[in-house]
Amino acid sequence: MTNNLTVQIHKKIQETGPITIAEFMAICLLDPNNGYYPTRDPFGENGDFITSPEISQMFGELIGLWCMQTWYDMGRPNKINLIEYGPGRGIMMQDILRSAKLDQEFLSAINITLIEASPVLEAIQAETLYKCPCPVNWASDIREIPYMPAIILGNEFLDCLPIKQFIQTNKKLGLKGWRERLVTIKNNKLVFGISPIELPEWQEKDFPNSHFKADQNDLLELCPAYSQIIDQLKKRSLKNNIRALFIDYGDTSTSFGDTLQSLKAHKKMNVFSDLGKSDLTTRVNFEYLTDLSIANNLSVTEVITQGDFLNNMGIKVRAKNLLKAKPEAKNKILRQLNKLTSKNEMGELFKVICFQSKKLELPLGFESIR
Ligand code: SAH
Repeated sequence: MTNNLTVQIHKKIQETGPITIAEFMAICLLDPNNGYYPTRDPFGENGDFITSPEISQMFGELIGLWCMQTWYDMGRPNKINLIEYGPGRGIMMQDILRSAKLDQEFLSAINITLIEASPVLEAIQAETLYKCPCPVNWASDIREIPYMPAIILGNEFLDCLPIKQFIQTNKKLGLKGWRERLVTIKNNKLVFGISPIELPEWQEKDFPNSHFKADQNDLLELCPAYSQIIDQLKKRSLKNNIRALFIDYGDTSTSFGDTLQSLKAHKKMNVFSDLGKSDLTTRVNFEYLTDLSIANNLSVTEVITQGDFLNNMGIKVRAKNLLKAKPEAKNKILRQLNKLTSKNEMGELFKVICFQSKKLELPLGFESIR
């Protein structure tokens, strides 16, 4: 066993017993010494995965226009917090600010707060935003950020939050048949196991209604951090105008099945190989996020595809203008446009959702809100 994190996880399980999938993900992704994010810059063609802002400047620029319109919708407050969850290399914020420069009054109202868990990425973000005309602060949790009008963004952030997994081991028992899936050791190897213990009652309350439809051996995923995020948005929405936009890969309805995946150098890997050196993500459950926000009396838009959102935001016009300015880059720009919006690429798999204070109108780029 040469992998430090594999040794660390074995030791933990030997000492205190099997761990939950959420604990496993949190260690692999965020362990300060050997975790994935705190020890590397994973982005780009030569990295493990590539995200929309890394594909094209058009993405962040359109989000920038969306932010500017949001500031208008809020009545142009003197100060607004532009909060980004998990900003990666800070490229999206850089592109947002290029758009924000179109309105100096908006630009001077902006205070940026980046929520980042990785010191390596925080340093890269500081470098990217070195010449940024607005104050930039960092936080490791939204609870550290003072209440004020806010625009909150997260691209490919929700997919790396630790999830719990549950398996319906005995359909006849209904709720009582559910058991938590764990990571344990067998023949000196990390393997998945099932907890022999019944779930505590409070845990069952978090299950979406669709769990009633589960068949024998169906697997349900739950992300505890979703509830914490929605709770924070709700509290903030009651005091100030806030609008939050999340973009990620995932589904518009809850389905059963294991979606935990490990990615290294753009290839899928075994979840237990290369711990801390490959990225772990899961598909985001947008139906569950919608249900949580309705239950919390927070306004939420319908969930739309990234392709529809970017087209509604005028990405084709932006591409045309870029083509005019850089005719030599025609093939590259068209390739980027296709990657971001086409159904076979990121256009359909990626979804967009927006949460906001009750009294705000329909946000730009969407067709309905409740
Ligand atoms: N939004 C960027 C990066 C997405 S990768 C882009 O689209 O390119 C996920 C980002 O979230 C990384 O910056 C990672 O370090 C950060 N991150 C992961 N878990 C986090 C947590 N629990 N709290 C804060 N940041 C986290």
